[in-house]
Amino acid sequence: MMLSTDEIIQTMSSQGLRITDQRKTLAKLFAETDGYLTPKDVYEFMCKKYSGLSFDTVYRNLRVMEELGVIEQIVFEDGLKFRGSCNQDHHHHHMICLQCEKTYPIQFCPMTFADAPDQFQIVKHKFEVFGYCKNCREDRAGMNLTPATVEGEK
Ligand SMILES: [Zn+2]
Ligand SMILES: [Zn+2]
Ligand SMILES: [Zn+2]
Repeated sequence: MMLSTDEIIQTMSSQGLRITDQRKTLAKLFAETDGYLTPKDVYEFMCKKYSGLSFDTVYRNLRVMEELGVIEQIVFEDGLKFRGSCNQDHHHHHMICLQCEKTYPIQFCPMTFADAPDQFQIVKHKFEVFGYCKNCREDRAGMNLTPATVEGEK
């Protein structure tokens, strides 16, 4: 499951971030959204509550929250999106459905097999798998779609 509003706020404040009203609102938005949000989605949501907000301010907050690990970013084919981080404390990765954008945890970590060059200090890594979940596969079969083939990806 994902981090709650309080867990997000606690993590941000324990790492020295000032908890402004806007950051509280962002924490609540990500804790209560069961999917991915584009920076534009977040900006539009925030504008309804705070007038005169600049896109840069919202985007900077997203960057800070991502750096603190309370939200995570995924690059989809149509751009960058964010979601609240999982509250599982053990390391894991994600399989993401390209249609409904539902996220499934996978416990396998490919880093075990990474042959890092000598002296290379690893600070972080990313591993994401994209596909179609069972429901979306059935939908797509119903529509007689051939599986999408994406150039350069297998
Ligand atoms: Zn997860
Ligand atoms: Zn799906
Ligand atoms: Zn890993």
